Amino acid sequence: MAITALMPVYPRCEVRPVRGEGVYLYGEDGTKYLDMAAGIAVNCLGHAHPVLTKAIAEQAATLMHVSNVYGSPQGEHLAQRLVDHSFADTVFFTNSGAEAVECAIKTARRYHFANGHAERHNLITFSNAFHGRTMGAISATNQAKMRDGFEPLLPGFKYAEFNDLAGALALIDDNTAGFLVEPIQGEGGIRVATPEFLQGLRKACDEHGLMLVLDEVQAGYGRTGKFFAHELYGITPDIMAAAKGIGGGFPLGACLATEEAAKGMVFGTHGSTYGGNPLAMAAGEAVLDVILDDGFFEHVTKMGERLRGALEQMIPNHDHLFEEVRGRGLMLGLKLKVDSRRFVAFLRDEHQLLTVAAGENIVRLLPPLVIDESHIAECVEKLSAAARVYVAASDD
Ligand code: PMP
Repeated sequence: MAITALMPVYPRCEVRPVRGEGVYLYGEDGTKYLDMAAGIAVNCLGHAHPVLTKAIAEQAATLMHVSNVYGSPQGEHLAQRLVDHSFADTVFFTNSGAEAVECAIKTARRYHFANGHAERHNLITFSNAFHGRTMGAISATNQAKMRDGFEPLLPGFKYAEFNDLAGALALIDDNTAGFLVEPIQGEGGIRVATPEFLQGLRKACDEHGLMLVLDEVQAGYGRTGKFFAHELYGITPDIMAAAKGIGGGFPLGACLATEEAAKGMVFGTHGSTYGGNPLAMAAGEAVLDVILDDGFFEHVTKMGERLRGALEQMIPNHDHLFEEVRGRGLMLGLKLKVDSRRFVAFLRDEHQLLTVAAGENIVRLLPPLVIDESHIAECVEKLSAAARVYVAASDD
């Protein structure tokens, strides 16, 4: 019999958080955890940030939900701010990352349809990618563990190796719509796209009239020290999925596009009951108020460098366990020589440090972007203390 009424797709975990404050979470039994996971890159302002909680409370008491068919001054305002600070001309709000990806896929297909090229419907996607759990998103992800038993999947995807530009270009044919790619793969193990790769994809899109669709659900929203990660590469996408940090913990995502790329998304082609509702927009506005404030991205860059430096200093003292650090800004991965899932559980249960495991034996550090030096020191102390006593299982 099931232990709880929840569908058991997640492990049963004993942290059971009931309260959060800043960079700390508190479990049901009062245990205090240092949260270097931030809900997997979601709580960019930490927990219970006063600007965010006040905005949500005030909006909830004013107008929580109204159908998009009545028009949305709140949506228009947040969309305009996103447009003002990005490559995009237009925005569709969603409730999650996967929905933002779905909207991005639809926008890319519809662009070619509007140009009279409905046959250009294939997106080229990449090894170790993660785009969410909806049918379109798992079809875009060439990984058996996410797809087995869910067939038939959505046709229209071809798969290339991440960071293999020549391999990706070789797949272009008359049915290609474009590329769907994460600038920094999160779930895949903090794998950073090379500049040659992303810039090469951009160039190929320009040459062949294809759509460059970026999935910045995890890497975007200040996490790398830029508003969006593609700014690190000096390129812009045609279409982009964003989520996670955009609502700071409120379920919110967005599909952003240039006017040209979105030319097919005309009246009646797409929609969402909740997407962009006033409560979500209030959360989105509050997050932007904080992260677009002077010095915020510089803070992320500085903290990212501090954390990376501290981790790099620590590695030689525990080189039986740790291999390298990778990533950008506060999207960092510590590569282990042993199974990272067990080590992440050990950090959580024995050292009250919350991190996230990812592919390739990576411990992901995706802290709230508001962390300071003291949190970094505490994190590295906990990691070192854990490494001193950790005994890897023999089958690791
Ligand atoms: N894309 C990327 C890059 C992600 O990291 C995730 C979530 N981990 C998603 C899409 C899916 O987002 P959500 O879980 O909000 O649907």
